[in-house]
Amino acid sequence: MDFPDIPTLLLLTVCSNALVAVFMGLMHRAKRDAGYFHLLALGAAGMAAGWSLYASRIWEWPPEVSYLLAHLLIASYPALLLLALRRALDLTESRRWRWGVATALLALSLCLWWAIGSRYWMTLCATGGNAVLFSASLWVLLRHGRPFDLARWTILAAVAACALMLWLRLGSVLIRDFPLAGGDPLLVSLGLIVPLLSGLILAMAFPVSEFVRDAQRLQQQSERDELTGLPNRSQAQRRIGEYLEGRRGPLALAFLDLDGFKRINDSLGHATGDALLTAIAQRLEPLLKPQELLARFGGDEFLVLLPYPPTPAERRARELLSAMAAPFEIDLREVHVAASAGLSAFPLDASSERELLRLADIALYRAKSEGRGSVVRYRPDMGEAANAELEIELALRLALEQSRIALVLQPRLSLDSLRCESAEALVRIRGTDGSLQMPDTFIGVAERCGLMPRLGDQVLGLACEALQQLRQRNPEFNLSINLSPLELRDPSLSARIDAALTAWALPSDSLELELTESALIQDPVLAAERLSELKARGLRIALDDFGVGFSGLSHLLEFPIDVLKIDRSFVSRMLSDATASALVEGLIALARRLGLRVVAEGVEDQDCLARLRALGCEEAQGYVIARPMDAAALSAWLRDAADARPRESSD
Ligand code: C2E
Ligand code: CA
Ligand code: CA
Repeated sequence: MDFPDIPTLLLLTVCSNALVAVFMGLMHRAKRDAGYFHLLALGAAGMAAGWSLYASRIWEWPPEVSYLLAHLLIASYPALLLLALRRALDLTESRRWRWGVATALLALSLCLWWAIGSRYWMTLCATGGNAVLFSASLWVLLRHGRPFDLARWTILAAVAACALMLWLRLGSVLIRDFPLAGGDPLLVSLGLIVPLLSGLILAMAFPVSEFVRDAQRLQQQSERDELTGLPNRSQAQRRIGEYLEGRRGPLALAFLDLDGFKRINDSLGHATGDALLTAIAQRLEPLLKPQELLARFGGDEFLVLLPYPPTPAERRARELLSAMAAPFEIDLREVHVAASAGLSAFPLDASSERELLRLADIALYRAKSEGRGSVVRYRPDMGEAANAELEIELALRLALEQSRIALVLQPRLSLDSLRCESAEALVRIRGTDGSLQMPDTFIGVAERCGLMPRLGDQVLGLACEALQQLRQRNPEFNLSINLSPLELRDPSLSARIDAALTAWALPSDSLELELTESALIQDPVLAAERLSELKARGLRIALDDFGVGFSGLSHLLEFPIDVLKIDRSFVSRMLSDATASALVEGLIALARRLGLRVVAEGVEDQDCLARLRALGCEEAQGYVIARPMDAAALSAWLRDAADARPRESSD
């Protein structure tokens, strides 16, 4: 039978094992922390050296000792392999196994020592010893039936093949009593080729398994939220994607968002905020059922995957929210927090991950506006409202960037002097076609999407610019601007106003700030503080839309207020509605008693104006006097009014 002769096979084995040794050595340098590549390098080097010594006997180099050494070196390979496997698989019984392997090796070398001189007994001992060691390796691997990946299956197969070969060879030696180099050439060559191939396969499989493990570890790390240890956004998105692809039945997404987390963060510090998020994760995670998933989506937003139809999912979301009712103990302090949730359902609402997330977000937005702790399921009409809002937001952003924010000014008439000494600035978005968009459509959006500070800043700048122009002809002219409740909370408000007044060389008493009750009662302490700060700088404060909220007159009047603007809903009805009339009358009297200046808003006809004047109202604003107009038009209007006045008074 034609097959490579034994010396050639030996040479091949030596070279391939040397190669494996070099390869493993390089791997060890690259991945020292793996902790087992050096064992494999050592084992393969031992194999190469062992087979060289073995070959030297065939090439008639000095025998005996080298023959024994060869067998020992070759036998050390499975021992080292075993150690390497143990480390690769993180097996824990290290001591017992190390002792077991050491004993086996010792027994093997003693047997070989005893057998020196007899080729038959040497072969028997070496082959038997190796067969036992390889089988033990196989047994360890199987016994620790871990989830094997492809690389480890390869190792398993290689070790099994080696063990099988060695047992076969041992059997053939025992039964047929054949001399090593003759007799059964197929078995001999297989006995050499199989370990050779196994060595190569192992060299490949180990690094592969190591790299697979690294990749898995990296993926796990990149899919965990560092703070809470929960799955993060990318894992949540992957899991949703997998679920939808697998079409595993209904799925609901619940977005949870903490109510007032920003306040906690601001007042108690970020460390407390972080600790709270961790505590929430720790409280909610044990409550999850097997198929549910809780992920931190970012900031104070969590996402829960609920594999149920919408109604049970909504119930589950409520259960999870109610688990947050008990206070959290953070740094020996009790912190109360509530959350709102928005739900979207697959396949009812949408069938893509992105769309489901978007819809849950829309529902969450609605839940937030409904107040603390509400759970809201997405409905299509919410989507339309959200789309409309998104469009307004985009238009506003664009207008802010392209300086298309404009102010119109509505004069306020002093009813004693019949002079116009001040005006209110009202904001507009100037469209690219020159049209003007009214504030009712975009102020709310600006507040919700965080654009209010930028908008307020531009309004302030434009108002100061307009006021400075107006004061060139009317040196005593004043202007009022509207402040949103959000702006009042801004700690830099006074500084910003200061800066604007200075930039336009305006005295601070030329500017009046209009605020609604809602701005004051949301956080009365902060509001009182801010107002005192502003007043100390000489600015005047007006209470706008007075009467509509009616939240405790006396309480409101404790704030440092200079001007009361009676809401136009009363003023417009005062001639036709006795209650409205009584109210306006009462408010005027009250304000005068308290030393406040009263302004009636929305005056639309002359009779109403005359009545207000008779009641002692100090100022009026409304279409009967003038509609809002731009600064140039107001300048002209003021000039015309001044020209008309002498004639008017001569009537
Ligand atoms: P507001 O402060 O009560 O402003 C008065 C509103 O009444 C203005 O509407 C004005 O055009 C309108 N008006 C004036 N006279 C009459 C009248 O005789 N009859 C009727 N029916 N309406 C009259 P506008 O400009 O649409 O402003 C609406 C609201 O938008 C304002 O109500 C104010 O709350 C808010 N706003 C306007 N500009 C700003 C701003 O720069 N910043 C902030 N935060 N809010 C603003
Ligand atoms: Ca106003
Ligand atoms: Ca008003």
